[in-house]
Amino acid sequence: MSDNRQRNVIVIGGGPGGYPAAIRAARLGGVVTLVDKGGLGGTCLHRGCIPTKSMLKFVHDYQVMKRVLKEAGGGPPPAPSLTAMMNQKNDAIRHLSAGTRALLEKNGVRIVSGTAVFQNRHTVRVLETGEELPFSAAIIATGSKSMELPIEGLDYPGVLNSDRILDIKEIPVSLTVIGGGYIGLEFAQIFQALGVRVTVVELLENILPTEDPDVAQSLMKIMKSTGIIFYTAARVTRISLADETLCITIEKEGREDKLFSDRVLLAVGRRAYTEGLGLENIGIRVQGNGAIAVNKHMETSVPGIFAVGDAVGGVMLAHKASAEGETAACCAVGIPSTAPYRVIPSVMYTKPEVARVGLLEGVAREKYGEILIGRFPFAANGRAVLEGNSQGFVKVIAEAKSECIVGVSILGPDAGHLIGEAALAVEMEATLADVADTVHAHPTLSEAFREAVLDAKGEAVHIPPTLKKVR
Ligand code: NAD
Repeated sequence: MSDNRQRNVIVIGGGPGGYPAAIRAARLGGVVTLVDKGGLGGTCLHRGCIPTKSMLKFVHDYQVMKRVLKEAGGGPPPAPSLTAMMNQKNDAIRHLSAGTRALLEKNGVRIVSGTAVFQNRHTVRVLETGEELPFSAAIIATGSKSMELPIEGLDYPGVLNSDRILDIKEIPVSLTVIGGGYIGLEFAQIFQALGVRVTVVELLENILPTEDPDVAQSLMKIMKSTGIIFYTAARVTRISLADETLCITIEKEGREDKLFSDRVLLAVGRRAYTEGLGLENIGIRVQGNGAIAVNKHMETSVPGIFAVGDAVGGVMLAHKASAEGETAACCAVGIPSTAPYRVIPSVMYTKPEVARVGLLEGVAREKYGEILIGRFPFAANGRAVLEGNSQGFVKVIAEAKSECIVGVSILGPDAGHLIGEAALAVEMEATLADVADTVHAHPTLSEAFREAVLDAKGEAVHIPPTLKKVR
């Protein structure tokens, strides 16, 4: 291989796609400059994963405190404090942002604050300073932005997106969430726990349309039991103002209905953020939805220019962006690499959590014909019961002939941690027997995964016997 030190690598964007790419390229000997116009850490750290998880942790702790106080016969708990919740979130962001900067600096990455624009196929210009940065390879990791709806009324100040809702100064009385996906449901739970009257409007039949319908329906039932109101198969057609309250007009089964709330959160998906980079000037192919087209090495239609993360569309998850960033970094310094795409777990951090890896039941049936399905409820798992968190279940899908595990969905406590073992099983094409023969510690939540695996053959110990489940 040629001398990596000759390679000037420019990374555009310091989020979970860009900063690991910069670090990896530097460790491999590249001379790396990272240009970022927001804060280091990107959407994930400043407006996405980290702030929302911090807020969810705050409200879940508050609920535990309320339960403990009640059980101990104490008086009513103090009202939850928005300031305390925001301070906790901001502290976490500050801490992690400083850590990201230190990590980049310790790896010798030069950090440039500003907006990068491609001047030609070998030079990036920083808009604010006019500095020109020549490169031998560039990695675009500019992320995504909230999608809007083609409806009237989005510009009322009370209509928020997932960025603006993080800066609200007081707890509203009521909130209508448009979109029953990851962002919508996490915020719905945060605000419901703060005492807000929350309504979720979802366009499709089920909330979480990309997840297992059993999981989505069970979660909706649980969230309804906490007081959240759901309208599914409902389309928002207009937002207007009625006596300082927002009026949300929805259409459901051909009928028009009106919902009223102080605030509206628009959470109908995100799209690649690639405008303003000058991609058209240098002939980089961009798809209709703004996502940059790449091959399996994360290389764009222009050799030597790579793109990763939300900017290339597909599943928009931080860990997928990081994996792609590291692939692009290797390629940028001349080491062949392919995106490790087969298995990408996804997690939603509501209580209970939702996590999935691999195929959904319908897709697996279509692909393999016959499948085995195992299911185990957390209500039959000792650890979940003693912790008072026994809602939900594990669902395992295996191909019937080989008995290879091809998909796992979990609704339940710590589903996000539990999905790690399932991801390893799917990645390594483990069979039901591989997991069944693995001793799982007791009492742990992980036993529920093994029991679901056993149930696929009707052999789970802690639920009544069932027949072998070829479907
Ligand atoms: P999403 O695609 O997950 O969900 C959007 C939802 O809005 C869908 O259910 C869709 O059917 C619905 N919708 C679309 N148009 C609508 C309309 N007109 N009226 C009502 N509902 C409508 O998008 P999101 O929740 O905005 O999240 C964006 C991205 O961020 C996703 O790719 C997600 O994976 C990622 N994300 C991940 C996490 C996590 O990993 N925990 C958390 C938040 C966001």
